[in-house]
Amino acid sequence: MDEPSSGDDPILLVRDLKTHFPGSGGGIGRRAGNVVRAVDGVSFSIDRGCTLGLVGESGSGKSTTGRTIMRLVDSTAGSVHVDGTDITRLSGRALRRVRKRMQIVLQDPFASLDPRMRVDEIISEPLRYNTSLGRAARRARVGETLEMVGLDPDQRSRYPHEFSGGQRQRIGIARALILGPDLLILDEPVSALDVSIQAQIVNLLQDLQDELGLAYLLIAHDLSIVRQICDDVAVMYLGKIVESGPRDVVYDAPEHPYTKALLSAVPISNPRLRGSRPRVVLEGDMPSPSNRPDGCSFRSRCPVAEDICAADEPRLERRTSDQRASACHLATTRPDLHLPATPNRVQP
Ligand code: SF4
Repeated sequence: MDEPSSGDDPILLVRDLKTHFPGSGGGIGRRAGNVVRAVDGVSFSIDRGCTLGLVGESGSGKSTTGRTIMRLVDSTAGSVHVDGTDITRLSGRALRRVRKRMQIVLQDPFASLDPRMRVDEIISEPLRYNTSLGRAARRARVGETLEMVGLDPDQRSRYPHEFSGGQRQRIGIARALILGPDLLILDEPVSALDVSIQAQIVNLLQDLQDELGLAYLLIAHDLSIVRQICDDVAVMYLGKIVESGPRDVVYDAPEHPYTKALLSAVPISNPRLRGSRPRVVLEGDMPSPSNRPDGCSFRSRCPVAEDICAADEPRLERRTSDQRASACHLATTRPDLHLPATPNRVQP
C-alpha cells in the first residue's frame, strides 16, 4: 500500500522506468529476438505547477516514455508514482481513478478527435464515463471549459473539420482538462501547427498552468519552446536521459556533447548574435534501440569520444551543486571541452 501523499511530494515521480518491446526480426538492425529498449531506465520528477521538458531526436524514446506514464503501453520495469500512488500495477477502477488526475494532449489534433462526433460529445465523453454528472451539469462544464481554452461555447455543435488547426488543438486541450487533472502530458502539442498559431497555444498553456496550477510533462523537439515554458529539462538519447537539470543551467552551459549539439541548432533570434555560436552537426543516425553500442550509447556519433567511452557506460551523475546531472565520462575530466564546429553551417 502506498503512503498517503503529504501534498509536498512531486505530482509525478518516475523511477528507473523501462519499456522494452520484443524485436520483430527481419528489419535493418533488428535480429529476431533482439529486445527493443525504447525506454531504458528513465528517472525524473515533476512538482505541482511545474513543467519538465523532455527533449531529443525522434526515436530517442521520449514519446514512449509519455505513453508508458499514461499506461497506454505497459512498462517492463520501474515505477510511476502519481501523487504518491504507483500506477504501474493498477487496473480497473483504481487505474481509472488515477487516470483522471493526468491526461494527454497529442501532436495531431485532427487525428486525436473523432471526426464523427460533435465537439460537445468529444469533450463531455470523459464526464459520462468517469462522473455521475447529469446532462445539464455536463453541458455546463463543457461550456465553461470551452471558454477556458478560448473557444465560443456556441460552436459546441460543430464537428472537428469545421475548425482550424489551432482551434482543434484547443478542443484537444479542453477534452484533457474536462476531468480537472493535475498533470498534462503534452506530446509535441504545437509541432503540427503554423508558427503564429504555435505562439497562441503556448500562451494558452502558460495561462492555464497559472490559473489551474497544472503540472506539465512537455515532450518536444523544438528547444525554443521548451526554453520558453519549462522549469527543468531532461535530454533523452536512445531510451536514456543523458543530461537533466534546471532549464537555464542546461541551456546556458550544456555539459553533454549531445545536448551541446542539439542546442547549437536552436535559431538565435537576435541578428547581431547570429554567428556567435558555432553549429555542431552530428554525423550519422541514431543507432537502433535493439542494437545499442557498448559503453556510451552516444559514442558512435560523439565528436569527442575516447577509448574509455567504448569500455564503460557513463552513469547519469551530479558533479556540481547546480542540480544538473549528465552521463559523460569527459564531463568530469574535461568539462570545458568544446565540440568541433562545422564552419560551413555557422549562421552568417
Ligand atoms: Fe562522448 Fe564519451 Fe561523453 Fe559518451 S562518454 S558523450 S562518447 S565523450
